[in-house]
Amino acid sequence: MPELSNTAIADALEELGDLYELDGAIVHRVLAYRSAAKAVREAPVSVAALAREGRAVEVAGIGKTLQEKILALLDTGTIPAAERLRAKFPPGLIAITHLPGIGPKRARLLHSELGIDSPEALREAALGEHLRTVRGLGPKLEASVLVALDAGGGRPPQRAASRILLPRALEVGEMLLAGLREISGDGAQVELAGSLRRQADSVKDIDLIATTTRPTTLARSLARLEEIESVSSAGKSGARARTHSGLSVDLRIARPAQLGNLMQHFTGSGAHNAALREAAVRRGLHVSEYGILDDATGITHTCASEQGVYECLGLAYIEPELREDRGELEAARSADGLPRLIALDDIRGDLHSHTIASDGHNTIEEMGLAARERGYEYLAITDHSASHGFGNDVSPEQLGRQIELIREANERVAGIELLAGSEVNILPDGSLDYEDQLLGELDWVIASVHTSFGMGEQKMTERMIAAIEHPLVRAIGHPTGRLIERRAPYAVDLDAVFAAAARTGTMLEINGNPDRRDLSDVNARAAARAGVKIVIDSDAHRVATLENMRWGIATARRAWLGSDDVGRSQFARADVIDLGGAFVAPGFVDSHIHLTATGLTLTGLYLRHATSRGHCLQLIGDYAAARPGQAIWGHGWDDSSWPEDTPPTTAAAMAVSS
Ligand SMILES: [Zn+2]
Ligand SMILES: [Zn+2]
Repeated sequence: MPELSNTAIADALEELGDLYELDGAIVHRVLAYRSAAKAVREAPVSVAALAREGRAVEVAGIGKTLQEKILALLDTGTIPAAERLRAKFPPGLIAITHLPGIGPKRARLLHSELGIDSPEALREAALGEHLRTVRGLGPKLEASVLVALDAGGGRPPQRAASRILLPRALEVGEMLLAGLREISGDGAQVELAGSLRRQADSVKDIDLIATTTRPTTLARSLARLEEIESVSSAGKSGARARTHSGLSVDLRIARPAQLGNLMQHFTGSGAHNAALREAAVRRGLHVSEYGILDDATGITHTCASEQGVYECLGLAYIEPELREDRGELEAARSADGLPRLIALDDIRGDLHSHTIASDGHNTIEEMGLAARERGYEYLAITDHSASHGFGNDVSPEQLGRQIELIREANERVAGIELLAGSEVNILPDGSLDYEDQLLGELDWVIASVHTSFGMGEQKMTERMIAAIEHPLVRAIGHPTGRLIERRAPYAVDLDAVFAAAARTGTMLEINGNPDRRDLSDVNARAAARAGVKIVIDSDAHRVATLENMRWGIATARRAWLGSDDVGRSQFARADVIDLGGAFVAPGFVDSHIHLTATGLTLTGLYLRHATSRGHCLQLIGDYAAARPGQAIWGHGWDDSSWPEDTPPTTAAAMAVSS
């Protein structure tokens, strides 16, 4: 008999948590079962197999007791504690807990107060308007309960996640790649395709493409990988399987001469391929996963590389992230239509990070060292402001101290500039959490909405525009508040937000947290087209999540953001301008990622009011003159708002400062 899947074990643990809650268990016990269920559901390998070896405790959130419960479940098909609890409550009561708006806690209340023990009894009580006699319940619940019961509610919910966030799926995909490459040895090629390769927000399945001289052997070897739960078919053209974490896997095998066709076809998206096929037909060409059939000659061309496929169709190569049928085919037909997309290497620093001063897990110095390790030139420390509401936050007095700590750390940590910043809350009326005077002491202010999401579009738009127009706000964090697969964006008029941001030079963020990726690809592209400067950052809450920059870059690439359309290509040699120790400008920043754009306030130097390069130089000169012998750290200036497009020379800057 096959072992239980991770999903089945997770469902059992989840049910046990519900039963304990129904039984009135203390809340952290209930939560422990729920988080264990989540960890099991997402585990890349078989938890049943781990438990058999006594190693299920290696999964986060699973201790010895839980491991025993899992073993009991594997051996007997049930968990004794769950059996006991099930016997204690009428089965109808358990059914009620699955109704939306009820849950175990309310079911318990309904049972003890009104003696309700089944969906039928609940319906009667709702119809008789008895629910409202219980404290905390009202007519609204009566109405929603009736709707849910009429819709056939009361069955256990389908808990399996339908889509998985990119990082987790990519981790599994890369394990499969490594495993298959190892098994197949030399000569075989295995690659990722599908939405994983397009770096989408979330994915439903893993597409693998391989070429080998022994296809059947390779297809069968998929079953031997420890991430694979079951294989439903395997033959010389490929295999279908399912991972322990619930992802379906499609492995397709081709001859090396067809690799390009297969990669192109299975990287998608469906919309991109449909548009591609339609355009090809007009040229007398038929595109499929096997090749390109030429009507005129009757010959099918196969391509070893994707470049070959696009070339054959008269198109420039299209990066996977752009293959969404969002204008990429038209662009690929014109000589210089496709952007050179931004890459991780283009990033020079990170302007959104947290430390133990708010809800982060590392110190300023630890974050600074880790950022330096990544090759960054600067890192802004932006802890949460006072009304954040998630626990730890930074009061105005503490912020003063925090600025000092950042300055001190900056002295100690060589080779990187640590900027004193804040992620300041945008209050419901659009005002900020700190007084302007205090904000004025910071190098970098990013403002975000963290509360009152449901306020309505007009109010929310006014709220955000007020923050955008605040002269000390340099960027808006996670501008729509969405959580991928979990929370919709709040209602806000983005066109109005983009217009305000473009007008004031306030940057909008692509937050790299893989749950957020906010702005989204579509929105970031619209913002950039509206003239908004985009800042890509990690929102790291610990050293390890500085890595989130990667998902921000993925979104930026899907948003067509490049570094050849603005900025850098025009200032190719503007990287470092050493003004004899008076002013060091580490660069005109990358394209849309104008980290510095219209003049960052750095080390007290406020350049945003400068109206021209000359004016800017004047301000720098005045500042330098007041601080003889002192290095001033700053960035370059923005090309879009000023007419001159060459950087100032050392001599020019020296001339103003002397
Ligand atoms: Zn935030
Ligand atoms: Zn943050």
